[in-house]
Amino acid sequence: MTPSEIDRLITLLAKLPGLGPRSARRAVLHLIKKPDSLMAPLARALDAAAAAIRPCGICGNLDTRDPCSICTDGRRDGAQICVVEDVADLWALERTASFKGHYHVLGGTLSALDGVTPEDLRIPALVARAQSGGVTEVILATGATVDGQTTAHYVADRLSQQAPGVTVSGLAHGVPVGGELDYLDDGTINAAMKARRPL
Ligand SMILES: [Zn+2]
Repeated sequence: MTPSEIDRLITLLAKLPGLGPRSARRAVLHLIKKPDSLMAPLARALDAAAAAIRPCGICGNLDTRDPCSICTDGRRDGAQICVVEDVADLWALERTASFKGHYHVLGGTLSALDGVTPEDLRIPALVARAQSGGVTEVILATGATVDGQTTAHYVADRLSQQAPGVTVSGLAHGVPVGGELDYLDDGTINAAMKARRPL
Protein backbone atom coordinates (compact mmCIF):
# COMPACT_ATOMS: atom_id res chain seq x y z
CA MET A 1 0.00 0.00 0.00
CA THR A 2 1.42 3.36 -0.98
CA PRO A 3 1.15 6.45 1.21
CA SER A 4 -1.37 7.96 -1.23
CA GLU A 5 -3.70 5.01 -0.56
CA ILE A 6 -3.28 5.55 3.16
CA ASP A 7 -4.06 9.24 2.68
CA ARG A 8 -7.19 8.35 0.73
CA LEU A 9 -8.36 6.06 3.52
CA ILE A 10 -7.73 8.73 6.14
CA THR A 11 -9.59 11.35 4.08
CA LEU A 12 -12.60 9.05 3.67
CA LEU A 13 -12.73 7.93 7.31
CA ALA A 14 -12.38 11.54 8.52
CA LYS A 15 -15.75 12.24 6.86
CA LEU A 16 -17.53 9.91 9.31
CA PRO A 17 -19.47 11.57 12.15
CA GLY A 18 -17.42 11.71 15.33
CA LEU A 19 -14.11 11.11 13.51
CA GLY A 20 -11.74 13.96 12.72
CA PRO A 21 -8.42 13.65 10.85
CA ARG A 22 -6.59 12.68 14.04
CA SER A 23 -8.87 9.79 15.01
CA ALA A 24 -9.12 8.76 11.33
CA ARG A 25 -5.31 8.42 11.24
CA ARG A 26 -5.40 6.26 14.36
CA ALA A 27 -8.20 4.11 12.94
CA VAL A 28 -6.32 3.62 9.65
CA LEU A 29 -3.13 2.65 11.44
CA HIS A 30 -5.11 0.18 13.52
CA LEU A 31 -6.64 -1.34 10.36
CA ILE A 32 -3.26 -1.61 8.64
CA LYS A 33 -1.85 -3.49 11.61
CA LYS A 34 -4.69 -6.05 11.41
CA PRO A 35 -5.05 -6.73 7.68
CA ASP A 36 -6.56 -10.22 7.93
CA SER A 37 -8.60 -10.01 11.12
CA LEU A 38 -10.06 -6.51 10.61
CA MET A 39 -9.23 -4.65 7.40
CA ALA A 40 -10.23 -7.31 4.84
CA PRO A 41 -13.45 -8.35 6.69
CA LEU A 42 -14.40 -4.67 7.08
CA ALA A 43 -13.84 -4.04 3.36
CA ARG A 44 -16.00 -7.07 2.50
CA ALA A 45 -18.72 -6.01 4.95
CA LEU A 46 -18.78 -2.48 3.52
CA ASP A 47 -18.97 -3.85 -0.02
CA ALA A 48 -21.81 -6.22 0.86
CA ALA A 49 -23.73 -3.50 2.74
CA ALA A 50 -23.34 -1.01 -0.11
CA ALA A 51 -24.70 -3.56 -2.56
CA ALA A 52 -27.58 -4.91 -0.45
CA ILE A 53 -28.95 -2.12 1.76
CA ARG A 54 -31.60 0.23 0.39
CA PRO A 55 -34.29 2.54 1.78
CA CYS A 56 -37.78 1.06 2.21
CA GLY A 57 -40.11 2.61 -0.37
CA ILE A 58 -42.90 2.83 2.21
CA CYS A 59 -41.30 4.02 5.46
CA GLY A 60 -37.71 5.01 4.59
CA ASN A 61 -36.13 2.45 6.95
CA LEU A 62 -32.87 0.87 5.76
CA ASP A 63 -33.00 -2.85 5.03
CA THR A 64 -31.87 -5.45 2.53
CA ARG A 65 -35.41 -5.74 1.24
CA ASP A 66 -38.05 -3.30 0.06
CA PRO A 67 -40.64 -3.09 1.66
CA CYS A 68 -38.59 -3.51 4.83
CA SER A 69 -38.92 -6.22 7.49
CA ILE A 70 -40.92 -3.87 9.76
CA CYS A 71 -43.46 -2.89 7.07
CA THR A 72 -43.97 -6.57 6.13
CA ASP A 73 -44.15 -7.93 9.71
CA GLY A 74 -47.72 -9.21 10.13
CA ARG A 75 -47.48 -9.02 13.95
CA ARG A 76 -47.08 -5.23 13.84
CA ASP A 77 -49.98 -2.78 13.78
CA GLY A 78 -50.05 -0.78 10.56
CA ALA A 79 -52.77 1.50 11.99
CA GLN A 80 -50.11 3.32 14.03
CA ILE A 81 -47.30 5.21 12.32
CA CYS A 82 -44.44 6.65 14.37
CA VAL A 83 -42.69 9.54 12.62
CA VAL A 84 -38.94 9.92 13.27
CA GLU A 85 -36.25 12.20 11.87
CA ASP A 86 -33.71 9.54 11.04
CA VAL A 87 -33.15 5.78 10.92
CA ALA A 88 -31.01 6.13 14.07
CA ASP A 89 -34.16 7.26 15.93
CA LEU A 90 -36.08 4.24 14.58
CA TRP A 91 -33.28 1.99 15.89
CA ALA A 92 -33.46 3.70 19.29
CA LEU A 93 -37.22 3.05 19.52
CA GLU A 94 -36.79 -0.54 18.34
CA ARG A 95 -34.18 -1.16 21.06
CA THR A 96 -36.82 -0.38 23.68
CA ALA A 97 -39.41 -2.68 22.03
CA SER A 98 -42.00 -0.17 23.27
CA PHE A 99 -43.69 0.38 19.90
CA LYS A 100 -45.31 -2.28 17.75
CA GLY A 101 -46.60 -0.19 14.88
CA HIS A 102 -45.03 1.04 11.65
CA TYR A 103 -42.61 3.94 11.11
CA HIS A 104 -42.10 6.86 8.78
CA VAL A 105 -38.56 8.24 8.47
CA LEU A 106 -38.60 11.92 7.45
CA GLY A 107 -34.91 12.17 6.60
CA GLY A 108 -34.25 15.28 8.71
CA THR A 109 -36.09 18.31 10.03
CA LEU A 110 -37.52 21.42 8.42
CA SER A 111 -34.99 24.22 8.49
CA ALA A 112 -35.45 27.68 6.99
CA LEU A 113 -31.75 28.32 7.61
CA ASP A 114 -30.58 25.28 5.62
CA GLY A 115 -33.38 25.57 3.06
CA VAL A 116 -35.02 22.24 3.99
CA THR A 117 -38.64 22.23 2.76
CA PRO A 118 -41.48 19.70 3.37
CA GLU A 119 -40.87 18.25 -0.10
CA ASP A 120 -37.26 17.45 0.89
CA LEU A 121 -38.49 15.46 3.88
CA ARG A 122 -40.89 12.71 2.77
CA ILE A 123 -43.73 14.67 4.38
CA PRO A 124 -45.96 14.36 1.26
CA ALA A 125 -45.41 10.57 1.42
CA LEU A 126 -46.50 10.59 5.08
CA VAL A 127 -49.67 12.53 4.25
CA ALA A 128 -50.42 10.05 1.47
CA ARG A 129 -49.99 7.11 3.89
CA ALA A 130 -52.29 8.79 6.44
CA GLN A 131 -54.90 9.34 3.72
CA SER A 132 -54.73 5.83 2.31
CA GLY A 133 -57.10 4.37 4.94
CA GLY A 134 -56.31 1.97 7.75
CA VAL A 135 -54.14 4.48 9.65
CA THR A 136 -55.74 5.66 12.92
CA GLU A 137 -52.83 7.34 14.74
CA VAL A 138 -49.67 9.19 13.78
CA ILE A 139 -47.16 9.59 16.62
CA LEU A 140 -44.70 12.44 16.10
CA ALA A 141 -41.37 11.40 17.64
CA THR A 142 -39.12 14.13 16.24
CA GLY A 143 -36.43 15.52 18.54
CA ALA A 144 -37.05 17.96 21.39
CA THR A 145 -35.02 20.57 19.49
CA VAL A 146 -36.34 23.80 17.94
CA ASP A 147 -36.20 22.29 14.43
CA GLY A 148 -37.65 18.97 15.64
CA GLN A 149 -40.62 20.68 17.30
CA THR A 150 -41.16 23.06 14.35
CA THR A 151 -41.30 20.01 12.10
CA ALA A 152 -43.74 18.22 14.43
CA HIS A 153 -46.09 21.23 14.49
CA TYR A 154 -45.94 21.57 10.70
CA VAL A 155 -46.70 17.85 10.19
CA ALA A 156 -49.54 17.97 12.77
CA ASP A 157 -51.09 20.97 10.95
CA ARG A 158 -50.89 19.29 7.57
CA LEU A 159 -52.36 16.04 8.87
CA SER A 160 -55.25 17.81 10.59
CA GLN A 161 -56.10 19.49 7.26
CA GLN A 162 -55.41 16.67 4.84
CA ALA A 163 -56.13 13.55 6.93
CA PRO A 164 -58.66 14.82 9.51
CA GLY A 165 -59.76 11.36 10.70
CA VAL A 166 -56.29 10.46 11.98
CA THR A 167 -55.32 11.10 15.63
CA VAL A 168 -51.99 12.93 15.91
CA SER A 169 -49.98 12.57 19.11
CA GLY A 170 -46.49 13.49 20.29
CA LEU A 171 -43.96 11.94 22.67
CA ALA A 172 -44.05 13.21 26.25
CA HIS A 173 -41.15 15.41 27.35
CA GLY A 174 -40.07 15.39 30.96
CA VAL A 175 -37.94 13.98 33.74
CA PRO A 176 -35.76 11.11 32.46
CA VAL A 177 -35.98 7.74 34.20
CA GLY A 178 -33.46 7.82 37.06
CA GLY A 179 -33.13 11.60 36.75
CA GLU A 180 -32.83 13.99 39.67
CA LEU A 181 -34.48 17.39 39.33
CA ASP A 182 -31.41 19.24 40.56
CA TYR A 183 -29.41 18.04 37.54
CA LEU A 184 -32.00 18.87 34.87
CA ASP A 185 -32.03 21.94 32.64
CA ASP A 186 -34.82 24.49 33.06
CA GLY A 187 -36.48 23.60 29.75
CA THR A 188 -36.88 19.93 30.75
CA ILE A 189 -38.31 20.79 34.19
CA ASN A 190 -40.69 23.26 32.53
CA ALA A 191 -41.87 20.66 30.00
CA ALA A 192 -42.28 18.02 32.75
CA MET A 193 -44.39 20.37 34.85
CA LYS A 194 -46.63 21.20 31.86
CA ALA A 195 -47.02 17.50 30.99
CA ARG A 196 -47.88 16.39 34.56
CA ARG A 197 -50.50 13.67 34.96
CA PRO A 198 -52.73 12.33 37.71
CA LEU A 199 -51.19 9.51 39.78
ZN1 LIG B 1 -40.60 -0.01 5.71
